[in-house]
Amino acid sequence: MSEEPMLHSRRALTLKFDLPISKTRKFWDSLSNGKFVTTKCVKCGYVSFPPQSDCPKCMGGEFEWVDLGRDATLVTCTHVSVRPTSFAESDPYIIAIGEFPGGPKVLAWLEGVKQEETKPGMKLRVEVRGSKEGNPFYVFVRA
Ligand SMILES: [Zn+2]
Repeated sequence: MSEEPMLHSRRALTLKFDLPISKTRKFWDSLSNGKFVTTKCVKCGYVSFPPQSDCPKCMGGEFEWVDLGRDATLVTCTHVSVRPTSFAESDPYIIAIGEFPGGPKVLAWLEGVKQEETKPGMKLRVEVRGSKEGNPFYVFVRA
């Protein structure tokens, strides 16, 4: 078994970015007000998450906003103990996929639950948090 030749670097990677949100502003404003909304294509009815300005199914450009509510069902999850550099300061965490009524699936951290307590089908609820930069973000908790 031979090892592939490679160059090694152990420099830390710093991630700084500005994300334009003009087309998804309503999502962020709603999230700040505790509502979890997304886009629904006017042409074909496809509900996207995250919100999209163009439909990934029919490429239609008209959409309406729909309230997803706060209740979801756990589809699957994984426990992350070896964190990426950008989350190195965090304790190990769980990333979950929750399915909302009507089909949209959402990826988010699952808080307040131990790995051994997770089970597909368990009821989840979305909650809103704020980052240290002041940006709203969402997590799942046990319902
Ligand atoms: Zn569509």
